[in-house]
Amino acid sequence: MRLTWRRMRLTPRRRFATSQSGLDHKETIAVTLEHDGVTGLGEITPSPIYGQSLESAEAALPRIADGLGDDPLAIEPVIQRLLRDFGDQRATIAAIDSALHDWAARRFNVPLWRWLGLERPRVRTMYTISVATPAEVAEAVDEAIAAGFSALKIKVGGEHDEAALEAIRARFDGPLLLDANQAWSPVEAGKRVEALRRFRPWLIEQPVPKADWRALGELAALRVAPIIADESCETPADVAKLAGVVDGVNIKLAKCGGVREAMRCIAVARACGLRVMLGCFLSSGLAVAPALHIASLADVIDLDGHLLLREDPFPGLESAGELVSAPDTPGLGVAASDN
Ligand SMILES: [Mg+2]
Repeated sequence: MRLTWRRMRLTPRRRFATSQSGLDHKETIAVTLEHDGVTGLGEITPSPIYGQSLESAEAALPRIADGLGDDPLAIEPVIQRLLRDFGDQRATIAAIDSALHDWAARRFNVPLWRWLGLERPRVRTMYTISVATPAEVAEAVDEAIAAGFSALKIKVGGEHDEAALEAIRARFDGPLLLDANQAWSPVEAGKRVEALRRFRPWLIEQPVPKADWRALGELAALRVAPIIADESCETPADVAKLAGVVDGVNIKLAKCGGVREAMRCIAVARACGLRVMLGCFLSSGLAVAPALHIASLADVIDLDGHLLLREDPFPGLESAGELVSAPDTPGLGVAASDN
């Protein structure tokens, strides 16, 4: 198998900001796997929250490429080997896993969802509203409503949460997921979450730092809204340990290591009675695609990474307002727009 990669520069429609960081541009890495005249694609979206970066990915890639072997259908052993040897680079493993799945499904000339034995995904995604001034938030919400989104994910943990949420509730009555991205200390989090009650949150995501599982459990017990663990939950083992602590988990391929690990996370979450959310990072349609192909397995969908971009360098996913679906074409169904 031959592996090549290149950096991509992505530009969001609006400045993308959480309680932790903000960006006007983002770089990711597109990965191409070639074997026997068939190509498979993946995208690396590393995050410093999980100790990964473009540089750490680029340092691992030559070694990963050397050890890939020559059987792209041996996905399970390849991924298990990568998790053993490069377990701290799961965003990179997720891109290799994507490329192997894309390769396999293209080789058999079926869409990935069909190759996996799943239904064709046609799902409603939330749309993410960044941390910003209340006026900017109101403008972004008006745009999202006009574009047809009926559930919104609001990034909170900034200075203007209550004013922004007042502006949102003045124009939008639908479900609001409030994502604090670890913003609050365990001491203040209870008060902060109680203060959000009047905005009728549908779900609250990661209010406290990722290691503060006890605080997560205490916040879940307040019953302001179901608590979803995001940064606290990376692997299938994390999912098992979070059972009985939180109400649900946000599973992302770049956190756990791809389609196979995500399906294991989902299986564990189901066995433990946890609500399953499927999320993504800001990325092109290439990183969203493998998650979308398994989206029929999740309860809550947050796969808007590519919809937040000014231009998607890997078009192919179908979307009409909040409805996104994977195409009926072989593999992931996305291709570089410059080809
Ligand atoms: Mg989150």
